[in-house]
Parts: sequence; C-alpha cells; structure tokens
Amino acid sequence: MNPKTRQEKISVLLSTEPKFRIKQIQEALFKDGVKNWLDVSNLPLPLRTKLHEKIPFISVRENTLNISADQSTFKALLSLEDDLEIETVLMRNSKGSFTICVSSQVGCAMRCSFCATGTLGLKRNLTVDEIVDQYRFWKLYIEKNNLGSRISNIVYMGMGEPLANYEAVKESLNTILNKTDVGITKITVSTAGVIPRMEHILNDPDWPHVRFAVSLHSANPYVRNKLMPSSYEDFLPRLASWGKQYLEAFGNRNHHLTFEYIMLNSINDSKKDALELIQYVKSIGDVKVNLIPYNFTDFLFMPSTEEVMDAFQQTLKNNGVTVTKRRSRGDDIAAACGQLAKKKC
Ligand code: SAH
Repeated sequence: MNPKTRQEKISVLLSTEPKFRIKQIQEALFKDGVKNWLDVSNLPLPLRTKLHEKIPFISVRENTLNISADQSTFKALLSLEDDLEIETVLMRNSKGSFTICVSSQVGCAMRCSFCATGTLGLKRNLTVDEIVDQYRFWKLYIEKNNLGSRISNIVYMGMGEPLANYEAVKESLNTILNKTDVGITKITVSTAGVIPRMEHILNDPDWPHVRFAVSLHSANPYVRNKLMPSSYEDFLPRLASWGKQYLEAFGNRNHHLTFEYIMLNSINDSKKDALELIQYVKSIGDVKVNLIPYNFTDFLFMPSTEEVMDAFQQTLKNNGVTVTKRRSRGDDIAAACGQLAKKKC
C-alpha cells in the first residue's frame, strides 16, 4: 500500500510502535500549545524527531494572509503539497468566538454564474487532512497571535462543492467531531444541491447530522438554471421531496434545514420572486431562509439594495417564513465566505 493519508503514513512509519503511541500522536495533532512534532512532550524524543523529519505536521502552508480593517475577518491563501492553492476564512462571530469557513475542493465544477470559484473549474478534491488542517491552521493561528477565543463554528462554504467530495468531507466531519470541541449543530455543510448524494445521506449511518444549507437562490426553475447551470428541469420538485424526507427524519429544534438565497438586483429580488419562494418553502415545511448580500465579483450582477432586501425579508416574515439576513464581513479583503476568488490577496 502506498500511504496517502497522514494516519496511514504514521502507521507505516511507526509500525513497530505500540498502538497507544499512534493514538497519542493522533491526539497531539489537536492539542493546545502543540505547534509541531517536537512539542509533543509525551512522546520520546527519538520518536518526535523521526516524525519531524518524515511527516509534515500540517498539510497546508500559509501563502498570504489578509486581515480586514476592523480585525474581524482573516483570510488565508494556503498552499498544498502540490502547490495548488485554497482559501479559508476566520471570522469573529456574534457570540465572541470564531467561525471558520473551509474549502472542500480546489476550484469547483458547479460553475454558478455569480461565484468567483466557479470560474476556476475543478482542479481536484481536497484530502481529509487538507480539510481538517484548515481547522488546525486557524487553531494554531489563534494561539500564536493570542486572539483569545476558540473556534466554535465551522461552515463548509469555501471553495468547492462539499457533496462532490463526499467521502473526504464525511471523514473530515467525523474527525473534527471526535477530536475537537466543536459540536455537531455548530457545523454547517452548504451544497449547491447534489440530490443523489443528499438522498444517500438520508440513509448513510456514517454521515454525522451536522446542519444542512442548500443554496437555492431562486424558486423559479428558469432563473435558477441561469444562475446555477448544475440545476435541471425537475430539480426543484426533487429538492422539495428530499426536504420533506429530511425534515421528517432529522428535523428538530437543533436541526434546521436552511435555504440560502443570494440577493441579486432585478434577478431574484422582486415581490413576485418572494411570493414564489414562500410558496415553494411552505410546500416543504419548516425551512429557514438565509438572505445573503451578493459580494460583487464581476459586472454580470449587482447586489440588491438594502431597501429591496428589507422589503423581501418582510414579505417572507409576513407570510410566516423564518428568515435571517447574513451579515456581510470582510468586504475590504474580499473574504466573505462563498466569495473565495482566484485573485491573490
Ligand atoms: N458549493 C457549495 C458551497 C460553497 S459556496 C454551495 O453552493 O453551497 C457557499 C455559499 O456562498 C453558497 O450559498 C454560494 O451560493 C454563496 N456564494 C457564492 N458566491 C457568492 C458571492 N459572490 N456573493 C455571495 N454569496 C456567494
């Protein structure tokens, strides 16, 4: 076997060591104050040195790091072993702790017309280590810079379509849930709507039931198809039927199903659009809608004005739909989640 994952590499390198050593090593990767293998003080020094020489402690390297003027948002461009690059974001959240936004692929095949990542096409899937190490990268960054808080939330809303990298994303979720103090309801996986995978999840005993967000962006099949070419004729009815099954199986106070809705000027922000959305959402059940201000990426689209967004939100509220509006953060460094662009910082 050609070892690929860090765990496999460690197992091969230390095949003669007792099992508890391997466990200690796995735990060390997430321990406070451990910056590299040499810091793992409960391991004998020769072992630490061996690991230090043979296995990278972390699979991502900081390339560029930008901080927003208000110091609330940090965006890192990370290099991978093969020199491809991904972006990841650290944001202060309303609870005073941090939310991180992680990438699941290098580039993306979905080609949503408003999304900067879509223009890159898909380069490759990220490995489990590369996904988990975005968490570890920010944990080490917080410690090194004494930012004084912990990562409480994780959103899979960076580059890529998480459900198109299903096995690695699933394993990364299980690793994070097993090795860190981030709770299952504090993680959100966002999808452009890969229905076969979503159907599979309903019956996959190994899929941890973190929160789900589906990027809807329009309840009109023609508009949605224009915005998201991955959409197809019976996408909306299939999503509705999936949504009902999901809510029946997993819906409770802690498990919301959220539809994300980017507000694009004169594209999907009229009263008619709102009414269509209300009708669609209500046909499914207790789905929450999160309105997202469009982060300008090119001249194809303009963001909806504040007034239009407020009116849209009010129409949804008046019709009994639970609706929230996403705060826009890190605009000055183009760091808003889901706007992870190919441009270097
Ligand atoms: N592929 C997944 C996850 C990555 S995108 C998905 O589609 O959900 C994460 C979120 O950011 C999605 O809701 C996406 O539609 C949104 N997004 C992409 N580009 C954006 C932009 N320019 N402004 C605001 N939100 C954007």
